Amino acid sequence: MVHLSQVAVRGVCQGVCGALDIAPIPHLASPLKGEESKLRRCSVTWASSYNPRHFQPHTIVMHITRRLEFDAGHRIPNHNSQCKHMHGHRYAIEVTLSGDVIATEGDSAQGMVMDFSDVKRIANERVVQVWDHAFLVYRDDTVVLDFLQTMPNHKTVVLDVIPTAENLAQVAFDLLNDAYRDTYGNHLKLARVRLYETPNNWADYSRAD
Ligand SMILES: [Zn+2]
Repeated sequence: MVHLSQVAVRGVCQGVCGALDIAPIPHLASPLKGEESKLRRCSVTWASSYNPRHFQPHTIVMHITRRLEFDAGHRIPNHNSQCKHMHGHRYAIEVTLSGDVIATEGDSAQGMVMDFSDVKRIANERVVQVWDHAFLVYRDDTVVLDFLQTMPNHKTVVLDVIPTAENLAQVAFDLLNDAYRDTYGNHLKLARVRLYETPNNWADYSRAD
């Protein structure tokens, strides 16, 4: 009999059955209800067969994503084909947050990582409303920049980088990164920004840890 006192184990059996996921439990004196049959597929019974080395702990992370869309113009000044021309896209941005599910009893965000309406509000304030119906122009694209400046009150967003999907995803990530704050102690973090230039073309900028 193996006891793992006070150890919460979540893992996948690397033995014969290969698929058992054990929920956190205070000790492993006996299999969880309903899991015994799966364990037995590991060829022998739980009590005599459980081997901690068969179980590889892994971290379970909750992610939530809010998608928003906006229209914007751009051009890729050095591109050797169509993208050098001024044109526009119906962009979509997907903001993905990671964190623990809020357990505060009675709180309006109980059961959530973050209220989707708050995810949306922040993304709107920081990125979507700023870029929507704007022309996104690279700061050294002086031909276009000079032209746009001749137009009174034109909505122009000057970027330090060429407005490719990859660069826009990174710029959006940087604009949003400190806006999603961990106010519940649930390790809330911006995990990824996915930016669609078209339905078939997108870029992901993700936190590595
Ligand atoms: Zn384009």
